[in-house]
Amino acid sequence: MTYALAPHAIPSIPVAGTDLRFPVHRIYCIGRNYADHAAEMGATVDRVQPMFFMKPNDAIVINDGDVPYPSATQELHHEVEMVVALARGGRDIPAAHALEHVYAYGVGLDLTRRDLQSIAKKKGNPWDTAKGFDHSAPVSNLHRVAEHGHPSGRALTLEVNGERRQATDLSQMIFNVAEIIHELSKFYELQSGDLIFTGTPAGVALLQRGDRFRAVLEGVATLEGRII
Ligand code: MN
Repeated sequence: MTYALAPHAIPSIPVAGTDLRFPVHRIYCIGRNYADHAAEMGATVDRVQPMFFMKPNDAIVINDGDVPYPSATQELHHEVEMVVALARGGRDIPAAHALEHVYAYGVGLDLTRRDLQSIAKKKGNPWDTAKGFDHSAPVSNLHRVAEHGHPSGRALTLEVNGERRQATDLSQMIFNVAEIIHELSKFYELQSGDLIFTGTPAGVALLQRGDRFRAVLEGVATLEGRII
């Protein structure tokens, strides 16, 4: 079999403490998973039906990478989030077994063109151009469950130019990791290599060219980078 064009490389993320790379299949994101962020956006939290959206897998920017300021926005926002990396997939995964599917954890930014998202919300349009743009998913190296276990109650923080912008802890998540995997697997057949961004707390705000960001999932992962 010969491709008509050279195929694109599979986007991948370094696995901490190894020479391995995690091959990224899809990037799923959950919205409104912290009550304080839903409140600051004027949104209501639905504790029964979570809200999901996606980014393309080549939207990742690995740790210490430069993030080009995106086109077509005057309002680039940061959203710090814990990131879950799946070792294996499935459909209709029971919550009680969902954590067995997790390979590793990291921390990332769900970068958002907030101005385009506000317009999309008003018009009832999809969020793709607001959420799924190039370089919209900076993500740390991944830290394996086999070495570190599953994080719980850890602090999740973001500093921009050394100033604290967002802070929470994982106990504030409305849907926990097992519940997110369970709910997501009702809509999609999850696969090895999938990443899940698990939602952001309050404090989302502007990023400008030249800003340096530092996201930390306490005791697990750190992401650093720069908007250029
Ligand atoms: Mn988000």
